[in-house]
Amino acid sequence: MKATAAEQLDLLSLANLEAEIARTRRAISEVANPAQYATERAAQLELASKLIDARNDLDSIELELKRAEADLHLVEERIKKDNQRLVNTNSPKDAQGIQSELVSLAARKSDLEDAELFILERKEIAQSSFETIAQQKHLIDADLEVAISANEQQVLKLRSGLDLQEQDKAQQAARLSPELLKLFAQKASRGIPVARLIGRECGACRISMGASAYAEVTALASDEIATCPECQAVLVR
Ligand SMILES: [Zn+2]
Repeated sequence: MKATAAEQLDLLSLANLEAEIARTRRAISEVANPAQYATERAAQLELASKLIDARNDLDSIELELKRAEADLHLVEERIKKDNQRLVNTNSPKDAQGIQSELVSLAARKSDLEDAELFILERKEIAQSSFETIAQQKHLIDADLEVAISANEQQVLKLRSGLDLQEQDKAQQAARLSPELLKLFAQKASRGIPVARLIGRECGACRISMGASAYAEVTALASDEIATCPECQAVLVR
């Protein structure tokens, strides 16, 4: 088949544009692959579940604390009442009974205060653990958000580059005759469709031609299409 030197260069440009487009598409599928955040997402999920556990721990300790405070309040009220009764009573027997109750109430109060202190210590530990986990989760959420947003920007950039490359390719293809386009499509379905001949080497398959094949190619008129005997690519001399 015949093609002018300019047409052969157009074929080469089209092949180069197709290769660029294929590279861009590969880059997009690598960058847009959601699997790259699998580790971070797993860590995020684990922290979310730990955060719920820590919140539940803290809630149950706070509930325990409220109950202990209510118990202590009851005992304190009872002590106040007993003290009033003690002041108001004239009966020594009653006074003895009240005093003995006051002794056991004092013991009960001391136990409840100890228990309350213990709960307060546990609450402090649970609170600090909750805050640590919340902080870790906040960090990973923020990191992931930044990474995903940068990634989306990169994909957008690659996609708009791809649009331009597709436009260039359409323009380049419009310059070629239907026969040459058909030839190009046939060659492209097998591999690299067009390449330079560099010395004796085919730019597509990188195999050097034997002396007789090379002599045949160089003997062709410049508007005759030369083909690599190994990979069938159109060779631009
Ligand atoms: Zn070749």
